[in-house]
Amino acid sequence: MRTIDDIDVAGRRVLLRSDLNVPLDLKGASSAGGAAPPATPRGITDDGRIRASLPVIRKLSERGARVVIMAHLGRPKGDDFAARAAGGPSLHVVAARLAELLGKQVAFASDVVGPSAAATVGALTDGGVALLENVRFEPAETSKDDSERARLAAQLATLGDVYVGDGFGVVHRKQASVYDLPKLLPHAAGDLIVAEVDVLRRLTEKPARPYVVILGGSKPSDKLGVIGNLLGVADRLLIGGGMSYTFLKALGYEVGNSLLEADQIGTVRSVMADAERRGVEIVLPTDLVVATHFAPDAPSMVVPVDAIPADREGMDIGPDTRALFAAKLIDARTVFWNGPVGVFEFPAFAAGTRAVAEELTKVDGLTVIGGGDSAAAVRSFGLAADAFGHISTGGGASLEYLEGKTLPGLTALEADQAD
Ligand code: ADP
Ligand code: MG
Repeated sequence: MRTIDDIDVAGRRVLLRSDLNVPLDLKGASSAGGAAPPATPRGITDDGRIRASLPVIRKLSERGARVVIMAHLGRPKGDDFAARAAGGPSLHVVAARLAELLGKQVAFASDVVGPSAAATVGALTDGGVALLENVRFEPAETSKDDSERARLAAQLATLGDVYVGDGFGVVHRKQASVYDLPKLLPHAAGDLIVAEVDVLRRLTEKPARPYVVILGGSKPSDKLGVIGNLLGVADRLLIGGGMSYTFLKALGYEVGNSLLEADQIGTVRSVMADAERRGVEIVLPTDLVVATHFAPDAPSMVVPVDAIPADREGMDIGPDTRALFAAKLIDARTVFWNGPVGVFEFPAFAAGTRAVAEELTKVDGLTVIGGGDSAAAVRSFGLAADAFGHISTGGGASLEYLEGKTLPGLTALEADQAD
């Protein structure tokens, strides 16, 4: 992979794909990630991904490049640009935070490939930095149709002379700004991608054992798929958070109103059978903190997994599970953790995630945390970043890397140069 040290950027327009998909204030949301985000986000709750993107932006700017940043935020909904732009979330708040952190003006384009983008890029001088509006406001960005994505990539290509891929959190996505665009321009990998891949390689090449993977988070179906592949890698899988309820249900437990993907129960059963055959231990919660509804101040109580009331919703792992997970981590020599084990954004339901983070700081070996929300959780607890081996900006991307999958965004950066 060529790095930015291998390319000449002075005076050239550099299209930089960064991952600035920061978590936004959940206030007013009715379920984790379930509610449509407001058009004007209330605020950035953790700017870690912006900070992680700064080195390459600074470097390019200092070398005299005209830096045109492409990024996405959230999951906009709507049939076309106009509908999505109206629904948000806009990257505007991110542009403001980026300017603050850079200590430098960041020009903001109110569209992606429209007149504002062209004018904003046209007005850049050497060393200047611009951010285009949420690239996912263009439905073609995430289209499964190759020709739709190719069309958007061709429009984006008119805004730059060189492409730099630095959005590690999206390299597992076959999307226009990640996969199709680098084919059209001379390209290189940014500093963040280079650093992330270095650490993940250490996790895949002869990891010290026992190797424990902790999985949590809110999107069961996203991650259920990867578990099967992780069985070939890890010695032990600790499962908490949103996806654990589908496992508990598969074992026959009542899970009340907890997050559940009933259509995944079959998958979960075969994963458990496969784990048993391979001698991989799957560790599930033994108790839970359940609440009356999804809210920071919802009345809650601790119940064993075999006594979840039908009218309650799982929000966190309970104290027995915290101790169980700690015991399963004590002898670990390699740990990869993706996904909070509870709704950590609400302090009343953060104890499980905090406990896992604290146990990780005691592990004698390589610890890697992957995922925007997981990283945000760790930082929100005030734990020093250097207490962990590495905090990755990519959850899905790092999981897929660990599974041994080829990541489209990396493949595109490795491919021969377009000239
Ligand atoms: P990451 O960004 O680290 O990959 P995810 O995006 O998969 O993690 O999941 C993070 C979200 O999972 C958090 O917003 C958290 O509130 C949510 N979550 C964790 N446990 C639960 C649960 N029991 N019920 C609902 N949401 C949960
Ligand atoms: Mg997330």
